[in-house]
Amino acid sequence: MKPADHSTSTALDSAHRHAVKYIGELNSGRVGASASLERLRELLGRPLADGGCEPERVIDELVTDAADGLHRSSGGRFFGWVIGGAVPSALAADWLTSTWDQNSGMYSVAPAAAVVEEVAGGWLKELLNLRADASFALVTGCQMAHVTALAAARNEVLARHDWDVERQGLFGAPPVRILCSDQKHGSVVRAARLLGFGEECLRDVETTRDGTVVEQALNEALLESANAPTIVVLQAGDINTGAFDDFEPLINLAHNHGAWVHIDGAFGLWAAASPKYRHLTRGAKLADSWATDGHKWLNVPYDCGYAFTACPRAHSAAMSHRASYLVYDDAARDQIDWNPEFSRRGRGFATYAAIRELGKVGIASLVDRCCEHAKALVAGIGQLDGAEVLAEPIINQGLIRFHQRAGGDEAEQDDRFTDSMINAINASGKAFFTGSTWRGRRVMRVSVSNWRTSADDIDRSIQAVADTLTAIRLS
Ligand SMILES: *Cc1c(COP(=O)(O)O)cnc(C)c1O
Repeated sequence: MKPADHSTSTALDSAHRHAVKYIGELNSGRVGASASLERLRELLGRPLADGGCEPERVIDELVTDAADGLHRSSGGRFFGWVIGGAVPSALAADWLTSTWDQNSGMYSVAPAAAVVEEVAGGWLKELLNLRADASFALVTGCQMAHVTALAAARNEVLARHDWDVERQGLFGAPPVRILCSDQKHGSVVRAARLLGFGEECLRDVETTRDGTVVEQALNEALLESANAPTIVVLQAGDINTGAFDDFEPLINLAHNHGAWVHIDGAFGLWAAASPKYRHLTRGAKLADSWATDGHKWLNVPYDCGYAFTACPRAHSAAMSHRASYLVYDDAARDQIDWNPEFSRRGRGFATYAAIRELGKVGIASLVDRCCEHAKALVAGIGQLDGAEVLAEPIINQGLIRFHQRAGGDEAEQDDRFTDSMINAINASGKAFFTGSTWRGRRVMRVSVSNWRTSADDIDRSIQAVADTLTAIRLS
């Protein structure tokens, strides 16, 4: 082996050793990061050196220095945010993606990557029960899937008003309004901002207690300026409760008013992959665009999201680009016609691997398992003295609130107590949760989205919450 190849090989061997060790410790080790910000800056903040360093040593020291700053979210007792995990073949394919280092913007630059995405896109539409003729893009996450899909929406709703937004821009364009659930995820707001829609273009539509759009409220909002170009954003899986909008009537209503309907289904759209939970997404197929993630429930490593649209013309009008030095292929699918990026990672390999590894049945079972575990975890914590279930999981998300004094709810005091409980559980290293403000009150969110989570993880996590409650009461 030539010396240069030798150092690549030793660096990869070292990475492999460290990776296997990290994974081997997930079940027994602490869950949350333990190092403080100061400590991490001290460890990682080396002065920029004049000289280089042996690749293997770079890897070894990176692993040592980062170790205590890593959340073990790849393991089964991490329930914060909606994080997902990485199934084995997707993780391995992700390593190969970097090894192959294909610039996956177009077929001519990365032939296999383009075809893998084309195939994965078809599989995703089938799994998520979307129209077979939908256009798609593999992007960095649901946030950028919103940007991609809403760029198509922007093109289409303005085209209907004889406005070519790609050519004329937004200055002087008929004002577009975006009607969305008042429980919308912040990524929708950011996507709208990035597309040149100020936050004032967004109008909140009232929701029920579990976070689903009230039909009458949407109807009134649509009637307000009946002729304005309009985009309606609905949710498959509310970030707090996991609730689904009632798509069929809401989408039909929006379409009767000529609106484009986009669905934020970052994790919830995956319910469509399970025969048991599919009914929650009924009617979702009628929408004009959809955004979801690969890095959450499909358990593909970060980062990976998917955008789909029912209007390929508007989608490619928003994204495609022609330059004389690029080689386009008429027969193949060039990602640049659908994606916001120019150069990009071969994002399809990990998705392709995860879907092949699990198959339709494996994905359905991953969804079902996470939902069952979430229900058991929320119910188990709910039975503890001092814990109250505010939202039982509809799918894989639930909400818990802690009361300092059993039976009572002293609003502010219990807000603080709930936050102290979350901090104390996380400090124990035995499980990891994050908080949220829901209907004005602090809550602990429970989110189960990792293929590794087992019944044993659930038992251990309920015990960790019980122990923390006892300890905090005694202190
Ligand atoms: C996570 C999430 C998003 C944002 O997705 P990213 O992958 O982080 O960009 C949007 N909507 C919902 C409901 C989410 O849970």
